[in-house]
Amino acid sequence: MANLRFKAVDQAQSRITPEVTAPSVKVSDYYGCNVFGMDAMRQHLSAEAFKKVSYAIKTGSKIDEDLADVVASAMKTWAMSKGVTHYTHWFQPLTGSTAEKHDAFFDVQSDGSVLEKFKGSALVQQEPDASSFPNGGIRSTFEARGYTAWDPTSPAFIVDQTLCIPTVFVSYTGEALDYKAPLLKALAAVDKAAVDVCQYFDRDVTRVVATLGPEQEYFLVDRALFMNRPDLIMTGRTVFGHSPAKGQQLEDHYFGTIPQRVEAYMRDFEIECYKLGIPVRTRHNEVAPGQFECAPTFEEVNLAVDHNLLVMDIMDKVADRHNFKVLFHEKPFAGINGSGKHNNWSLGTNTGVNLLGPSSRPKENLRFLTFFVNVVKAVHDYSDLLRASIGSSGNEHRLGANEAPPAIVSIFIGSQMASVLDELDKKGNVKLDKGENMYMKLGIDKIPPILLDNTDRNRTSPFAFTGNKFEFRAVGGSANCANAMTVLNTIMAETLIQFKKEVDALITKGEKKEVAIVNVLRKYIKASKTILFEGNGYSDEWKKEAEKRGLKNVASTPEALDFYVEKKAIQVFEKNNVMNEREIHARHEIMLENYIKKIQIESRVMGDLVLNHIVPTAVKYQNVLVGNVQGLKSVGIKGKYTENTVATIEKIAEYVDGLLADVEEMTEARKKANNTEDVRERAILYNKEVKGFFDKIRYAVDKLELLVDDEDWPLVKYRELLLIK
Ligand code: ADP
Ligand code: MG
Repeated sequence: MANLRFKAVDQAQSRITPEVTAPSVKVSDYYGCNVFGMDAMRQHLSAEAFKKVSYAIKTGSKIDEDLADVVASAMKTWAMSKGVTHYTHWFQPLTGSTAEKHDAFFDVQSDGSVLEKFKGSALVQQEPDASSFPNGGIRSTFEARGYTAWDPTSPAFIVDQTLCIPTVFVSYTGEALDYKAPLLKALAAVDKAAVDVCQYFDRDVTRVVATLGPEQEYFLVDRALFMNRPDLIMTGRTVFGHSPAKGQQLEDHYFGTIPQRVEAYMRDFEIECYKLGIPVRTRHNEVAPGQFECAPTFEEVNLAVDHNLLVMDIMDKVADRHNFKVLFHEKPFAGINGSGKHNNWSLGTNTGVNLLGPSSRPKENLRFLTFFVNVVKAVHDYSDLLRASIGSSGNEHRLGANEAPPAIVSIFIGSQMASVLDELDKKGNVKLDKGENMYMKLGIDKIPPILLDNTDRNRTSPFAFTGNKFEFRAVGGSANCANAMTVLNTIMAETLIQFKKEVDALITKGEKKEVAIVNVLRKYIKASKTILFEGNGYSDEWKKEAEKRGLKNVASTPEALDFYVEKKAIQVFEKNNVMNEREIHARHEIMLENYIKKIQIESRVMGDLVLNHIVPTAVKYQNVLVGNVQGLKSVGIKGKYTENTVATIEKIAEYVDGLLADVEEMTEARKKANNTEDVRERAILYNKEVKGFFDKIRYAVDKLELLVDDEDWPLVKYRELLLIK
């Protein structure tokens, strides 16, 4: 095994960076060339068909059979001209990755001849044999099948020789079996609620889209080194590994020069992204060695979610060409930073206004404040649900564990906004006298100019205002953003609906519109104050302070997931037509199952590695030391010169013995958990009892790594994984 380790290190050190060439120097020459977007549609559809499809896309309305046939045929012609032979409905089952089943375009006719075909019906709907996708019991009790249906708001695209058609995945009884269906409903809900509120300010607003720019953090490790680590292969993270002498303490990696081999990889996957019309723009090193980030320009949420999944897919594929493996896991390495996916989020109108962008005009500022305060209120009222939306076994290593962000949901708004809200709060109920300057009286005649171009940065907050958008930072690196986005947009919709009701009630009582708005905003600020926190989110003081404020700090995933099925959560999803109770329960169960399986696999990998790799290696080295001591004694070397070696032998014995006992006990804990019927209880047992052994086992293994001869150590070490590029 150690032999394999050195071979891997050798291989990793002798890589030659592959040549990367773009189709053209100008990205605009080939940007989106593999997408059947507006341009391709305009080219391949009649003017009339194009108009109809654009309308359907804009309004989310249905496409009739004839039109579907026309679009399908155009899509096929376009795709075949690019060498495409197959098509697939591309969807997002609750497994966390994307799914596809490829069908060939060609069809055998009754006379035996073969013809390329793609009918509208095949574009619009398909029935993948999806019985093995997780469904939380929905499909087993009703229909055994689900179907995928085209989502025209996200354009079809080509990957390799396959035309991929973005779809939603639902059961025959209509329940959502994927991430996308509820997301689309949440987006529709926030659209409607925000448009209604916008009417106070501008009658021309007819549509509000939520926008998302997800910053993707990731690690790169050499493929040969990766293949030497069964834990990385099976769980995406290292379950063992002693910290290298040099980790991230010098902070010399962040924004440093990107290594040549990594840069070639980045350029390569970016080119693939451009072909798919994905606007990846920023690339840089991240805090930890071997960690990087890529961020696209924001897009409408649905598209941004699809694009983020595609980016992860592309990054994975392109990594092969460069003999890299890309890790999206939230915590691949202990002792250094993990990976998140900051969800930058805002709301934009059809009139081109960013509703979370402050302005220098008083009237626009009232609109900005309205949406700003409503976000604060939404997060305050539904912080539990937001916490649940980011819960996973991987993210558990970040949230509330040794690193950022904490499991306590709070909002950072920056000192400027904090004083704006304070001012507003202090005002008391506003009454306007005749002839008074309303905006001045309301205290919203000016926004501090500094806010317009800058905000403080607080890297420790899970949810931060960053000048013209909020950044939900606690989302995990490997997550599908849809979960977080479904919750955030649903609670925003609900809050805006309540807000409008309250303002309308005051207006009906004769209050001036602006005064009514400000008075309700004031009330919301008062009611949501506890969620605002400007300090260090990682500190122990904050934990104490949060507790005083009544904010929850739930570090365990199974317990955080409980919030999904609380009455308040079910109500907000049902009321806004995002998910019904059955769907929520199904999802809850799937998430618990996912959690259990992941911890189960990690626990098994740990057990295997300890028994088959670590203990034998340690014992072998221990025997060498024993031989050494015996040898020394046999030639008459005094006892005192063997004392330290004997102590080492003893230490190894102690760790080995401890490991054997702990692995045995952990296996028993798994058995006990597996025999527990209730899925929630089982997940809690996995969290508390099975996972409870992880740190202890790891500690002993990492200590042995320091004691045993480097020549014998079977697993590629951290310094090799992190520093060889
Ligand atoms: P930082 O690392 O400072 O947070 P980045 O430039 O890496 O900044 O990421 C900012 C992200 O926020 C980008 O994806 C950007 O497109 C996105 N963004 C900017 N404006 C909006 C907006 N109105 N809605 C959603 N996302 C936005
Ligand atoms: Mg950011």
